[in-house]
Amino acid sequence: MGLIVQKYGGTSVSNLDKIKWVAEHVVKTKEQGNQVLVVVSAMAGETDRLVKLCLQVMDPPDERELDVITSSGEQVSSGLLSMTIKSLGHEALSFQGHQIRIITNNAHSKAKIVRIDAERIKDILAKGSIVVVAGFQGVDHDGNVTTLGRGGSDLSAVALAAALDADSCELYKDDVDGIYTTDPAMVPNARKLDKISYEEMLEMASLGSKVLQARAVEFAKKFEVPLHVRPTSKPDSEGTWVVEENEEMSHMENILISGISFDKNQAKITIAQVPDSPGVAANIFTPLGDSGIVVDMIVQNISIEGHTDMTFTVPRTDFKKSIIITEEIAKKLGAKNILSDDKITKISLVGVGMKTHSGVATTMFKALAKEGINIMMISTSEIKISCVIEEKYTELAVRTLHDAFELGEEK
Ligand code: ADP
Ligand code: ASP
Ligand code: MG
Repeated sequence: MGLIVQKYGGTSVSNLDKIKWVAEHVVKTKEQGNQVLVVVSAMAGETDRLVKLCLQVMDPPDERELDVITSSGEQVSSGLLSMTIKSLGHEALSFQGHQIRIITNNAHSKAKIVRIDAERIKDILAKGSIVVVAGFQGVDHDGNVTTLGRGGSDLSAVALAAALDADSCELYKDDVDGIYTTDPAMVPNARKLDKISYEEMLEMASLGSKVLQARAVEFAKKFEVPLHVRPTSKPDSEGTWVVEENEEMSHMENILISGISFDKNQAKITIAQVPDSPGVAANIFTPLGDSGIVVDMIVQNISIEGHTDMTFTVPRTDFKKSIIITEEIAKKLGAKNILSDDKITKISLVGVGMKTHSGVATTMFKALAKEGINIMMISTSEIKISCVIEEKYTELAVRTLHDAFELGEEK
């Protein structure tokens, strides 16, 4: 008995048969004596289709209208699920973000949730109806529809679970049955994890694993919402718990690495032979930051005869814009030239075990060297090590590191 939030991703609601399967599980959960709030994504592929349509009309698209259009995918799936639950003889009501008032700021396509008016939903749940919420969307203070970033239905579910003080927040997936050591689509012997800490999951999601939205994990960590990632096809089986790090996780002997992420949305730019003087970094990175470009890794070479090279990475989606801005900066600062490469991948090892064990970096570097994979940049934090490599080696590098750290299923 309790209040349960269940989120079903796009592949779980990709056709009417699957929606019926979901509806039956929702009804079963309700019949077990629970109040149930369901969050749904758009049917698989629908958001991509809508984005493409917009780009045919206007590129870059008008941000306000883009959100109006992309949010419609979730409107359809929430209505279909609610209707299917009703056809099974149960009470259900679907709502869009603006109706239940998921209030956000006005940053279209990446809006932040400011507040949720939970009282109305609580009333409806208390009266015995199942509530189906269209994920991925909210409304700003002026009544404009906003969306929460790709994968944003995860955030809708976590935020609603926090606002309603739900007893559990279950995220159902159709093509994987939990969180794995790395993307099982790339490494077939990847192993399902029973548990992963918020911190590790946040790093993995931020470093490229698209299985959960990074902002949703951040929200869950902040409001201490335990997440249970489960398979839609076997909804009663255990998946992976994303929870607060505990003693057992950080001190388990031999467990150094929990997972490997890779991010192909990366590009690197070098400003070569820029005169080295105080303020040079500020002069380079301020205009990029002011244009909304998130610079990730930065490496500055030692100065030779008063000149230095500055290399940094940016999201590949911002590559062209970054080059234009960097060219202007280079001219102003009197740098020799600009070098760039958008065929790179960032490979990252993540694990709380790194806090207490050494030698992870050396094992990583040796394993990559043995395969002839050149490391172009390195960055580390307490629980992760990232290396930039050539994109064409992504799969080889992920598999090599997965083997080197013995992360796979035992054969
Ligand atoms: P949903 O549509 O339910 O939100 P997603 O498509 O967002 O599901 O996430 C599932 C996908 O994430 C799978 O197709 C899987 O290949 C990919 N994936 C990437 N990294 C991982 C990982 N470490 N564990 C599990 N799945 C992963
Ligand atoms: N439909 C949105 C997307 O494809 C949100 C989500 O699925 O979580 O990104
Ligand atoms: Mg998703």
